[in-house]
Amino acid sequence: MNNYVTDAINLKSYNLSESDKIIVMYSKEKGLIKGIAKGVKKTKSKLGARMDSLVANTVMLHKGKTFNTICQADSINTFKQTRSDLDKIFYSMYIAEVVNNFGLEDDPSSESVYNLLYQALNYISKAQNKVEILLTVIKFQLKMMKECGLALEFDSCLNCRHESKDEAVYFVPDLGGIVCSDCANIMPYSKKQMPAKLCEFFKQMSKNNFDVSGDFERKANEKVCNVTFEVLKSYIEKKSPKKIKSSEVLLQISV
Ligand SMILES: [Zn+2]
Repeated sequence: MNNYVTDAINLKSYNLSESDKIIVMYSKEKGLIKGIAKGVKKTKSKLGARMDSLVANTVMLHKGKTFNTICQADSINTFKQTRSDLDKIFYSMYIAEVVNNFGLEDDPSSESVYNLLYQALNYISKAQNKVEILLTVIKFQLKMMKECGLALEFDSCLNCRHESKDEAVYFVPDLGGIVCSDCANIMPYSKKQMPAKLCEFFKQMSKNNFDVSGDFERKANEKVCNVTFEVLKSYIEKKSPKKIKSSEVLLQISV
């Protein structure tokens, strides 16, 4: 059989012709995949809105020589509450783009990346306020980097390995972790000073699942979340094989 079935989340799409589109998806079984959605731009299309970005479907694909064709799609989750909220849309687009940039075809860890993406989109859609959206995105950033073998280090100074007793430490995006103030002076990389307490917040966020909320998390306000998000975003941008465009949009809407 030249057909296969998988759960997949639509990350983005390209126009192929007047009626067809190419859909880029992240699938549970095969990682990053692409498929042609024939006739999707026509009003009577049987695939229709299920091919919109940020929708999770069970899809059946027909393997072609160069491209796969999407024969059938049954929606699993449209993350409905995201679709009427600008913040939710943009942060969901951001995480979809991160998965598109770091995701691999035939990824052996596709199931855990898929679950991570699905859960993040689901928790964003259900969030009650901006802080809840940001906490979900931050956890996604930390967990996604770990999945890619790029886990961040907040336990001790990356240079001298001592646990810092300083009030403030320095985050070094090139290294993906913190250094103490002594080592910061001799570091040739760009760095950002941050309070040691913020480190504790990072540590807690790395450990906790989406449905668990720790002390620091419960106390976090929008400002702390924004700073944390930006720190992680700068690291992810440094490591990303392709430019992340949706974060430019984020910048525009947050001004
Ligand atoms: Zn040090």
